[in-house]
Amino acid sequence: MTRVAVFMALVCLPFAFATAASAEAPRDHFDVVVIDAGHGGEDDGARGISGLIEKSLVLDVSHRLAERLRGLGLEVVLTREDDRFVPLEARTSVANDARGDLFISIHANSSRSAKPRGIETYFVSLEASDDLSHEVAERENEALGATGPASLRLDPLAAILGDMAVNEHVRESNHFARLAHEALAVVDPAPSRGIKQAPFVVLMGVRMPATLLEIGFLSNREDERALRSAGQRDAIAEAVARAVLAFGEDYDKRRGVAVSRSVHDGDSGGKSK
Ligand SMILES: [Zn+2]
Repeated sequence: MTRVAVFMALVCLPFAFATAASAEAPRDHFDVVVIDAGHGGEDDGARGISGLIEKSLVLDVSHRLAERLRGLGLEVVLTREDDRFVPLEARTSVANDARGDLFISIHANSSRSAKPRGIETYFVSLEASDDLSHEVAERENEALGATGPASLRLDPLAAILGDMAVNEHVRESNHFARLAHEALAVVDPAPSRGIKQAPFVVLMGVRMPATLLEIGFLSNREDERALRSAGQRDAIAEAVARAVLAFGEDYDKRRGVAVSRSVHDGDSGGKSK
């Protein structure tokens, strides 16, 4: 009898946990945004021609964006809160454990030439959309200690798995990239650099729509000057927050989650859906 009881307990326990877990998690509407400030700690990222450091800039912009999103009633998870190195796996597992609905990685660009300027919005693909995008991904992947796309190409299974991970959320990622690009075009005086695709490893590991923003070129004098100002940082945060809000509404609609935030926050009397 005891053995049967133990057996039953072992068989039923996972179901009990599963039931408890699903009872805890109602039909999930868009409410968790993960912000990934690039670099940190011993990894400075790019360095501007007059000394602005990417890791500090993107952390500050991430905090400004987080504050706005929290003000809109969204839950925000940051992959790093301060100046520390966070390895690739930790960034993706923080995002996945939080069951994020959207992942936004924030970086600043750099080029060998001082000419290129402007904001770039990326979503992930195994092939880069052009040579410059390929270089950007190589640089950002290298900072995370990841060999990335080269190893994917050598290993067919890894390539297939990578492809699946990339395709699962590719439509939604593309949609958010478009919204972010449109919103950011207003704050960026430089001609549009378009929406691009590249094999960023940090975007490949997250199980949610994901975008990487390069918020300007630190190798360009005008961009660097603008990015030093609180005004430009706020404007970028504001634009991205607007895009997040628009995306969240579309995302819920497409998934058939009918409860909007305003309804959700309103009276709790008997609305089942
Ligand atoms: Zn970077």
